[in-house]
Amino acid sequence: MLFDTHVHLNADQFEDDLTDVIERAQEAGVKEMVVVGFDKKTIHKAMALVEQYDFLYASVGWHPVDAIDMTDEHLKWIEELSAHPKVVAIGEMGLDYHWDKSPKDVQKEVFRKQIRLAKKVNMPIIIHNREADQDIVDVLKEEDAGQVGGIMHCFAGDMDMARECLDMNFHISFGGPVTFKNAKLPKEVATQIPMDRLLIETDCPFLAPHPNRGKRNEPAYVTLVAEKLAELKEVSYEELIEQTRNNAKKLFNIS
Ligand SMILES: [Zn+2]
Ligand SMILES: [Zn+2]
Repeated sequence: MLFDTHVHLNADQFEDDLTDVIERAQEAGVKEMVVVGFDKKTIHKAMALVEQYDFLYASVGWHPVDAIDMTDEHLKWIEELSAHPKVVAIGEMGLDYHWDKSPKDVQKEVFRKQIRLAKKVNMPIIIHNREADQDIVDVLKEEDAGQVGGIMHCFAGDMDMARECLDMNFHISFGGPVTFKNAKLPKEVATQIPMDRLLIETDCPFLAPHPNRGKRNEPAYVTLVAEKLAELKEVSYEELIEQTRNNAKKLFNIS
């Protein structure tokens, strides 16, 4: 059984065939999945999905790209949702310097507010980082985010960055890019992440792993990520999926 720690089954891309996608995930051995909401619409959809399927869990937060749209009411709503028994984390949150819809200072402020909220409700956080390594580390340190820890999702940093995150109590999650043929860095980093801090994800519908690169991603493909990581870690596929599933269940407090 596998645990896909980051899915967007709440995305429009799955509107037409969600039942088939979920069925294929189950056939592939994917047991639990965390549906990540990152704005008003996707949070609503994530909550509806976790009500419908007992093996789905939700994470609720606000994406840095849309930081400029987040109001105090949204934050309060996220706090209320965090009390729901199927909400297991706060996020995704973080910094994304690839897109410039939200200025950096606004992104940082919204990031900080969500870390403070997670500490208040004592839940792990899911971090989205794009081209913002140093600022991510700085904010996490300044806000003492290690108190709750969480996940560096779809990790793309170097080993120095990984070490900083591991020291702050974070797990490192790999997705499709670790399987890409030209992806040297994530492969190198993955070999050095301790087994008890390793997680797998798809981030579907984005970033489909090799050989499906460029297609719509779906949870069933997390097996391809697991196969690659097992090879890199020189452990069996069974060991890799069992350990990463146990890591996820422990982190998300799922019995
Ligand atoms: Zn993300
Ligand atoms: Zn995501």
